[in-house]
Amino acid sequence: MRLEGVLAQERARLQLEGELAAGRLAHAYLFVGPQGVGRTTCARALFAAANCQNPGETACGACGPCRRLAAGSHEDFLVVEPPSDSPSAQIKVEQVRQVIRTLSFAPFGGGWRMVVIREAGRLNPASSGALLKTLEEPPPNNILVLTVQDPREVLPTLVSRCRRVNFSPLDPELIMEELVRRGMDPGDARLKAAMSGGSLGRALELDPARLRRELGRLQEHLARPGGALEDWELAEALVADHRGATIDRQGLAQTLELWAQYFRDQAACAAGRPTAALLESSPPTPQHLPRLVEAFNQVRRAQNLILANAAPELCLTVLLSELRRRLRQP
Ligand SMILES: [Zn+2]
Repeated sequence: MRLEGVLAQERARLQLEGELAAGRLAHAYLFVGPQGVGRTTCARALFAAANCQNPGETACGACGPCRRLAAGSHEDFLVVEPPSDSPSAQIKVEQVRQVIRTLSFAPFGGGWRMVVIREAGRLNPASSGALLKTLEEPPPNNILVLTVQDPREVLPTLVSRCRRVNFSPLDPELIMEELVRRGMDPGDARLKAAMSGGSLGRALELDPARLRRELGRLQEHLARPGGALEDWELAEALVADHRGATIDRQGLAQTLELWAQYFRDQAACAAGRPTAALLESSPPTPQHLPRLVEAFNQVRRAQNLILANAAPELCLTVLLSELRRRLRQP
């Protein structure tokens, strides 16, 4: 049976479909891949296929289990996740203990039960410890799925008890098509897809108006006459936009990602490949290709420095004056 609703991920899908067809599902899986590429969606599709009462080419979507799953009310499909998106939020031992208590009863619907532990790298030591024994030998008809971005996030003893399934970043074109299919404006969809890093989840969270504003700011800045003082002022303003209790370096790096994409597009246009451009508003410029490639590299370097804790105002000022110098040369 085909797993439905999973975007791309051919390899993962074929593996799970094969194991389902052969009646050889594992009792514990490790789904490895970036956030937002469909790991939980795939787990849900596997659950649907395994529990559907009228299985055809796919799960029927109409029987009791299919309908309860679609409504988010299937009592045997459980998701455990960190309490918030903050990188320091951990999955608490009480969350794990609750799951273990549930597993001691047979699945209520009489079919398979699935527990998805999302971002299992955020299990704290006590939670990991509590999970170990269950993972080794869960009661029958239960499947545990741990999602991680990298197996090194979790204890080797957890990894060794799970069967691994690999997920890859999605092609930006595919993400764009999916966003348009969901009714999004094609221009917004293209911009979001270009900035998604191959993650549909990330693409959905991005705000295209904000991305355009941030790009416009760079373009205006580079078009205006000015010097180091103006560069420093823009750098300060950008850092201020990303300052909360601490500086949001990931957020700043994302702004730089947008700049990098912009120069990448300009380079593609300068090289006579306008169709390779990812952002919708990239008019070709007469800049020489090598300068644009160098501008791209400089943005990338600044991005790495900022992520490595360098002083962001200084990095950005140096970057802006370098860009100005390079792109202004006759
Ligand atoms: Zn069904």
